[in-house]
Amino acid sequence: MGVDVVLREVGLRDGLQLVPRVLPTAEKLAWLRAEAAAGVRAFEICSLVPPKIGPQFVDAPEMVAAALALDGVTVSALVPNRKGAERGLELGVHQLNYVMSVSDSHNRANVRRSREESVADFAAIAALIRELEPAKRPILSGGLATAFGCSIEGAIDEYDTVRFAVMLAQAGATRIGIADTVGYADPAAVRRVFKAVREAVAPIPVGAHFHNTRGLGLANALAALDAGIKQIDGCLGGLGGCPFAPGASGNVVTEDLVFMFEKMGVRTGIDLVKLLDVRRSLDGILADVPLDGALIKANLPKGFGATVN
Ligand code: ZN
Repeated sequence: MGVDVVLREVGLRDGLQLVPRVLPTAEKLAWLRAEAAAGVRAFEICSLVPPKIGPQFVDAPEMVAAALALDGVTVSALVPNRKGAERGLELGVHQLNYVMSVSDSHNRANVRRSREESVADFAAIAALIRELEPAKRPILSGGLATAFGCSIEGAIDEYDTVRFAVMLAQAGATRIGIADTVGYADPAAVRRVFKAVREAVAPIPVGAHFHNTRGLGLANALAALDAGIKQIDGCLGGLGGCPFAPGASGNVVTEDLVFMFEKMGVRTGIDLVKLLDVRRSLDGILADVPLDGALIKANLPKGFGATVN
């Protein structure tokens, strides 16, 4: 049966990134396998950064291998630079996620480079991939963080977001990702920006990544769907926060996204009963981390059946 929207679980990367305690690999593997068994078909599994910067991801090779062994699952990894991309190619991930910020100040604070230098770095990764035979080339996602606003610069010019999406596409992206990293987007802006980016980079697919920082995560995800977006990220339990906004809500909540879409007849292929079991298991392994979400508190409405795959 078909799926109308692919929800990618990014909890194991984006969600865990700011969790100071390193989760045992066995617990991450159990989470991954259980969520895949619930029907989730895309995961961002790790960040390929040096262990000193990302101690949470020292087990990346093991995590990637386990994810690649799952049937029909698309495995992606965050790669901050060329070195990370080389590691991603060695590990054989299906998708490399390169991220730069539309906000110049945010980009400099994050990766100590101008935006143009980040695009050049991305082009070098694309060249690396072109050396591989076509069947072995991973999807190269050019991601734009702070695409709607930035905690350093404030408002972001929508034209800049479209302009850098086009630059990444021209540099060799086979997917574009647009992220509202710090919760500045609203549904009207989401409709405008995603429509403009889609038209500008067609036929390259565009994915969406929202944070629920100011409570608009679900509304923004729905607006993205309305704008024709078919790949949307989420974190089980809304894991992940923002280093610039302590205590703020994190990523948009995967189980709430699934509920919204399935309730309105948009097929995700995900079994909510099983997904909620996985979500409950996080209460055990992440007892010291604040988790978010509405469905987990209220449970499914009476008569709401398990998702038909
Ligand atoms: Zn995020």
